[in-house]
Amino acid sequence: KGGTVKPEMINTLSEQSFPLCMKVLHKSLRDKHHLKHQGRMQFGLFLKAIGLSLDDALRFWKDEFTKNQTSEHFEKNYAYNIRHSYGKEGKRTNYSAYGCTKIITGLAQPTSDDHHGCPFKNFNESSLKMEMRSKEFGDESIREVIELVQRKHYQIACRKYFDLTHPDFQEVSKETSRDEGMPFNHPNTYYQKSRQYHD
Ligand code: SF4
Repeated sequence: KGGTVKPEMINTLSEQSFPLCMKVLHKSLRDKHHLKHQGRMQFGLFLKAIGLSLDDALRFWKDEFTKNQTSEHFEKNYAYNIRHSYGKEGKRTNYSAYGCTKIITGLAQPTSDDHHGCPFKNFNESSLKMEMRSKEFGDESIREVIELVQRKHYQIACRKYFDLTHPDFQEVSKETSRDEGMPFNHPNTYYQKSRQYHD
């Protein structure tokens, strides 16, 4: 299930199909060539679940991190954790990707240089508006999303964001992926629905 994802495909997939939480992590990784631990876990396990193999994950993270540090430093400080999250080190637990509830309520509150968590909860109103303007959402749609966020309906806001970025989702998608517009409860569900729309 899910097929294989190669590091070279991640930019396009992020643009088309990553939920906002993962887009934010991906962008900040690309901008800063670094992510802190919780962000690496949230994003890394998501990537694993969409089909990035361990070898490709090591290559993907290394390519980014070594823009700012040596390979030795990367190997020493980060490679173990990546292998660990794929169940290849330590207790060999096969960790699964975080769902929305965990991301929204179960992780430490992000500080200003953290990028994990759910942007619908953590972004301030003006950043969220700016993000939506960059996607050319209309004023009415932006207002709707902001209202949902103010009422703390983060997952419904995320679903609204999905519908706005996947026009005519119910018509275009294969029958199996149509739904009643219910909120997704997992970033990987968001991703899968989006792939069924684009493929
Ligand atoms: Fe990510 Fe879930 Fe928040 Fe959407 S609602 S941005 S999928 S954590």
